[in-house]
This record gives sequence, structure tokens and C-alpha cells, in this order.
Amino acid sequence: MKTGSSGDAIKTITNHYIDGTFVESHGREVMDVIRPTNGRVIGRVTLGDEEDTRRAIAAAKRAFATFGKTTKEERAKILRRLHEAASARVDDLTAAMIEEYGGVAQFSSLLVKSGINAFLAAEQALGEIPWTRHWDKTTVTMEPVGVAGLITAWNANVLFICLKLASAVAAGCTVVIKPSELSSLQTRVLVDALHEAGVPKGVFNVVSGLGTTVGAELVRNPDVAKISFMGSVGVGESIMRDGAATMKRVTLELGGKSPTILLDDAALDQAVPAALIMAFMNSGQACAAGTRLLVPKSRFDEVKRAIKEAMSAFPVGDPADPKTAIGPMVSEKQYERIQSYIRKGIDEGAEVLVGGEGHPPGFEAGYFVKPTVFVNVKNEMTIAQEEIFGPVLSVIAYDSEDEAIRIANDSKYGLHAAVLGKDLSRARRVASQLQAGRVVINGMTDDPQAPWGGFKYSGVGREYGQYGIGAFLEPKAILES
Ligand code: NAD
Repeated sequence: MKTGSSGDAIKTITNHYIDGTFVESHGREVMDVIRPTNGRVIGRVTLGDEEDTRRAIAAAKRAFATFGKTTKEERAKILRRLHEAASARVDDLTAAMIEEYGGVAQFSSLLVKSGINAFLAAEQALGEIPWTRHWDKTTVTMEPVGVAGLITAWNANVLFICLKLASAVAAGCTVVIKPSELSSLQTRVLVDALHEAGVPKGVFNVVSGLGTTVGAELVRNPDVAKISFMGSVGVGESIMRDGAATMKRVTLELGGKSPTILLDDAALDQAVPAALIMAFMNSGQACAAGTRLLVPKSRFDEVKRAIKEAMSAFPVGDPADPKTAIGPMVSEKQYERIQSYIRKGIDEGAEVLVGGEGHPPGFEAGYFVKPTVFVNVKNEMTIAQEEIFGPVLSVIAYDSEDEAIRIANDSKYGLHAAVLGKDLSRARRVASQLQAGRVVINGMTDDPQAPWGGFKYSGVGREYGQYGIGAFLEPKAILES
């Protein structure tokens, strides 16, 4: 570790995790790691190249020859060990997420814990999957698909790696992980932790690097059978297209523009804070963020007042402070992206209820933005159609329940949705008509056995529980005459 001119400690990573050991990078390009709270350099990472990636794929392929034949009991034990190894480092993982990504403490520790618990959830699901089925003279077995490439986004990198790795290991697949290039420090803490689990060498390999080198090699390499991806729609499309040349199986977890329908019987003192939590979770950098709030016209003014009052519970600040609800954006690029969408909203005629352009006062140094709520938004406006990936909420008025459902579904995305209302049977009826992979009723909640994934442009396939493991399996039938 070195000290930079700013006085910050500089962490340096020059190697990758291949075949159960840390191997110096063949790639020579070096990338700075920037702290989002003040824009200072806190690390330098040597990026892997195609050769590093091929070495990791070869290790995974060798390991698959035996790991692919393990019993479910053996894999359950490995999942348990991975869980224990990661659990020992919860605080370090959370601290790394706060420092490198600017994730707020209160949410980062939840994300880390839910990542770690994915190993236990996979262990449970593994015990429930019908691995072999017989009828007449037919036997069907579920076989691991082979070597998988796991590619993650930066907004919950530790959670994504744990989730995908847990499902792959449960299925009997070996993997090469390509973390987001904005998450190298967090990934290193996680890999150090998982190394202690004593997993057979080559079962999981990690190469840091860019999507256009390491990611692209995973997508085109014929020894990789499956890509499990989290990221943007554009990259997801290219993975599907380029992966077709080697007939890749793909799971694509992409973007969202999730609707929250506030029904006219909702108690606003609970419903409005719940809607804001869903809009601003993970500082708005969440694929599932409820960024379109649909409100009955009859209660629009009341809701506006309730939003203004509830905003005091969403302070911007130092992400390490447990009271902070909204931290900085991950990068300058992301800061500029949010600003451009806020300008676009104003230009298209939406009204700023709270927030607006620029840094919040006192937070000029880092990539902090003002949590912003637009009212008088029409669903066809850019801010209601495109994923902003920051703390920007569009409030849209509706006349009837049918119209609310129509507006909610009038989106290219379909990842997540929410319904808020007193009458549960009515809320369920509305939920059943929404085109989304998950719908929550009366507030954000999670279930590690429930499928996660999107309709429409939000992606292809599902993660979590049996659904997630199934994505790494092929059914194979043996028929006797
Ligand atoms: P991104 O698409 O820019 O990058 C995601 C990953 O893909 C990174 O690791 C990147 O290096 C890699 N990549 C880039 N180009 C590649 C290529 N040509 N081939 C292979 N890999 C390549 O996305 P991002 O900015 O990191 O993440 C934000 C996006 O991710 C948002 O749209 C968000 O909604 C989405 N996301 C979705 C989910 C979900 O569960 N559906 C979860 C998290 C994030």
C-alpha cells in the first residue's frame, strides 16, 4: 500500500485469482480507482487482458471435469463453507463498498448480507430441486451446463458475485467472474474471503478488467457455455448477439423503470415514505428502483405535500454515516448522466417539486446529486421512459385503476413493480396485471427463493433459488426401448 499526494492510502492490485491462487496480470493497462465522495485516487488496478481470461477459462474447464460430477451433498457442503468464509468479512466487505462505490452504510450492509445469504439460499434450493425424474423407461437428469462467465455491474457487485456464484456452484458449474471495473477493491476483499473456503482450485476464477477485453473474451470463447450478466440493455444485446456464434446460454439481468402504483385508499403517512424508499434505495442506483410513482388525480395535491414532508428522511451525506440515506453517484460520468436527465425533465415541461440541477450545498467535491422529484410528468416524457439510475423520481397522475395499470405497463422495461393500498385483495388484483418479473405489495421486500429477472427489455432468464440454479442446468433424457 502507498500513500498518494492527497494523503489517501493507495491500494494496488496487480493480479487475478486463477486456479486457486493469485497470478500476476498478463495485461499491463492500469486503471485508477476513484473515491466518489471526493474524486481522489484511492487505488490502482492492473487490468486483465484476453490472455488472462483464457488462462482463467482453461482452469475452469479443467476443474469442471471433476466438479461437474460432484454429488449435491458435496456441493451443499461447499456452499456452506463459502457462506462461512464470506460471513467472517461482512464488515470489511461493507466498508469496501462504502469507500469504492459510495454505497450508504445502512443499505450496503444489507446488500452484503443478502449476497452472503445467497449461499445458504442456494444450499436450500439445491436440496429441493428434482435432480432425477423417472417415468416408464425414461430417466431425466439435470446436468451442469459447463464453464460459466459471470459478468457483474458496479451497483451491488458483491451481492451479484455471491448470487451468481452460489447458483453456479449449486448446479455443478465452474466459473470465471468478471467484476465491474468500478468494483475491483470490493471484489478483492470478497475473493480473499472466499479463498479461505477451500473450494477445489479452478472452480471459481476472477479476472479484473474491461468489458471490451475480458468480458468480450468470455462471450466469444467456445469453452464458455453460459454467460450470466448484470448490466445495461446495450451490453446485454451485444452479449446475446455475439454469444450466438458459440451458442451461449444467456441470463441477462438488465435495466428497469419500475412503476409504483399508489391506490386511492392508501394511507399516505406509510405509502409515501415506502414509495420514496423504493425510488431512492441504493442512492437511486438500483435496477429495481421505483422511479415512476403513479398517483390518483384526486389525491395529487395531498401526495405532493406528503412527499415534501417525507424528504427530510432522505438526507444526502457521507455514505459512511449511518444516518445518510443518499450517497454520491459512483463516478463523474454517472453524475453528468443524472444532471442531463434533470435538465431534460425541465426542458420537456415537468415541474421540479424537490431537488433539481447541481450539487447539494456543501457537497461540491464529490459526485453528489440532489435527490429530485418531478411532478406533472407525462409517461411519454424521456424521464418517465428511460432508466436514469440515480435518485430522480417522476410522479404521474392517473384517473382510474385501469389507467394506472396501462401507464405502469407502458414501458419497454418490466423488472420490478409495486402496489400500495389498504385493500389487499384489490392490491393483489392490480399486481396480477402488471408486466414485471417481481411485484411487491405495500413496501420493498425480498425472498431469496422467489425468482428475480425481467419481462421485455429488462432481460432474459431468472436468478435466485431454484430458478437461479436452473439457469445453469441442462435437462438430459435417457430412454430405453
Ligand atoms: P454496463 O452494461 O456498462 O456494464 C456491466 C458489466 O458488463 C461490466 O462488468 C462491464 O465491464 C461489462 N461489459 C461492458 N461491455 C461488455 C462487453 N462488450 N462484453 C462483455 N461485458 C461487457 O452496466 P453498468 O453501468 O455496470 O450497470 C448499470 C446497469 O446495470 C443498469 O442498466 C442497471 O439497471 C443494470 N443492472 C441490472 C440488474 C438486474 O438485476 N436486472 C442489477 C444491477 C444492475
